[in-house]
Amino acid sequence: MGKASRDKRDIYYRKAKEEGWRARSAFKLLQIDEEFNIFEGVKRVVDLCAAPGSWSQVLSRNLYLPAKLSPNSNDSDLPLIVAIDLQPMAPIEGVIQVQGDITNARTAETVIRHFDGGKADLVVCDGAPDVTGLHDMDEFVQSQLILALKLFFTEVTFAKPKSSRNSSIEAFVVCENYSPPDGFNHKDLHLLLEKIGSPSGADDLDCSSGWLEGPNKVYIPFLACGDLNGFDSDRSYPLPKRADGSYQSLDPVQPPIAPPYKRALEMKKASSHGVQGLEKLSLDP
Ligand code: SAM
Repeated sequence: MGKASRDKRDIYYRKAKEEGWRARSAFKLLQIDEEFNIFEGVKRVVDLCAAPGSWSQVLSRNLYLPAKLSPNSNDSDLPLIVAIDLQPMAPIEGVIQVQGDITNARTAETVIRHFDGGKADLVVCDGAPDVTGLHDMDEFVQSQLILALKLFFTEVTFAKPKSSRNSSIEAFVVCENYSPPDGFNHKDLHLLLEKIGSPSGADDLDCSSGWLEGPNKVYIPFLACGDLNGFDSDRSYPLPKRADGSYQSLDPVQPPIAPPYKRALEMKKASSHGVQGLEKLSLDP
């Protein structure tokens, strides 16, 4: 599919390039904020699974830059934004980058050091658990995640931003009011999750808050967000034309700096130059 046809098919893809976002996902976070006001009063924020960085750009433009440009700006008062990904990412003003695995405790320690031991006011994450392809297993892992969320937050809502295509089952979980169970020690987290996962585990938990009803049931509200009259991510829109009637396609705002598919592309290019090129590449480290 050519750039122009993708621009035509996907309005958010084109708008992202026009507005300087590295990915169309920026609109998803903006629309979630419109509905839930998640940026209000935020001073420390973590962006998990951040590359290529459109959510970090949203955080920079909505939190860091307004604070920096304010007449009473004070360096020690600027919001701290830490972005983590396995992949490297081109720099973004006001965003501290950590290249690492979000599931590794050492990565969490690095983030906490950046916050001088303080806690994050907001954690955003655009990653998803790896799927095994064994559907029962994948559903079980997802349910465990949802149950764990309901344990730690008083408000849990599924959100479907307008920029997320209806044809995709993608949805985001918005968790508000962090309130871990009494006596909770984060080092015991895996024990708690094991307990929820066991068939009888739910009976052992404190159900006084009423979130467990019937046999281990949790109902979570599902909310569409983003202006209902706004752009529809499943529709094609006419391309804006220049005066001479032609269309100018825009280049990506920030191509990935070390994409995982880079080597495959190099090998493909080398193969079009003959076997010698391929041999040379396979000898390179
Ligand atoms: N929110 C990003 C944006 O707006 O530009 C897009 C995120 S992309 C959909 C998912 C990212 O998750 C990938 O860049 C991938 O490298 C990262 N990722 C997946 N597993 C990870 C892990 N265990 N630790 C850190 N990053 C991970």
